[in-house]
Amino acid sequence: MSVAVEMDAVVEELRSVQKFLLTTHENPDGDALGSLLGMHELLKQLGKDSVMFLAAEEFPLPWEYRRMPLEEVQNEPPADLEERTVVFLDCGNIDRMPVDFLQRDGIHIVNVDHHHDNTRFGTVNLVDSGASCTAEIVWELAKELGAEITPVIGDPLYVGLVTDTGKFMYTNTSSRSHRMAAELIDAGIDAHGIYRRLYEDLPYGRLQLLARALNAVQRFDGGVVTATSLTRGDFAETGAVESDSEGIVDHLRSVEGTKVAVLVRELLSDDRHGIRKVSMRSTDGTVDVSLIARGLGGGGHRQAAGASSDLPLDELFNTIRKGIFEQL
Ligand code: 5GP
Ligand code: MN
Repeated sequence: MSVAVEMDAVVEELRSVQKFLLTTHENPDGDALGSLLGMHELLKQLGKDSVMFLAAEEFPLPWEYRRMPLEEVQNEPPADLEERTVVFLDCGNIDRMPVDFLQRDGIHIVNVDHHHDNTRFGTVNLVDSGASCTAEIVWELAKELGAEITPVIGDPLYVGLVTDTGKFMYTNTSSRSHRMAAELIDAGIDAHGIYRRLYEDLPYGRLQLLARALNAVQRFDGGVVTATSLTRGDFAETGAVESDSEGIVDHLRSVEGTKVAVLVRELLSDDRHGIRKVSMRSTDGTVDVSLIARGLGGGGHRQAAGASSDLPLDELFNTIRKGIFEQL
């Protein structure tokens, strides 16, 4: 089915249904939260009954998202769950939302996403891998539905747009992304305020964590791979939290000759001792990092992908380098 046909089906669904439950993937990022909140405000404007759900473990959110108006998010399934259509936003596969009540059979799911490897787990699917972010798809849905894009809808969508395009730097940034930005700004969103809340006035520990990551940079294979790693000690000694590592991998991609930037960090929760989280970015698109991530049990986009692994650090770097080499 073409994206346009899928879009029509979802528009019809959003028009005809009255009660919704909205959710997104675990460890939500800016696009996950922005799409969630933007869709919620859109449905409210249309007079719908919308509930946002995120598991209690997701809180506190990363610093940069704590100033988003997410007070209406609920952490428990609503009593009338059976009557609600569940809308998944920015979630490539249902296992990225490991919450039992959402994985039950018989749930009517609308799956709105932009991951090219989306498993199409919904009853109705709208997967547009040409969209820079899920927020871009929600913006189109809003227009299709004839909604007025007010700042309460536009602000969160802009968060998704700015974060998933790497501030309009990544190759997923299209003229459509810029048109969306322009239209949101014309609609009165606070673009500079959003930038400030996302990227400034953050804890000093985050900068100290970045300093440690930069100190530990390794260059492999003649500079094709620029990689670094962070230990639990790095987090403990800087007072940083896991989400403070967000963005570090982008510093590595700036180095001359780099085709793939890699950050490996040890996970901090007790039950994930010995597990490492890998973040990969492909600079010029020669290497499809989602392939390598899938080999490690994860996934993502061609140019930004990740996985969790119990391999030791050396082995992990070797596996990634092999995966890159095979594609060159
Ligand atoms: P990040 O490196 O910022 O954590 O993730 C980059 C992208 O990779 C995300 O947008 C997501 O699409 C994907 N990703 C990261 N971790 C995982 C994972 O554990 N499983 C899957 N399927 N995708 C992941
Ligand atoms: Mn996204």
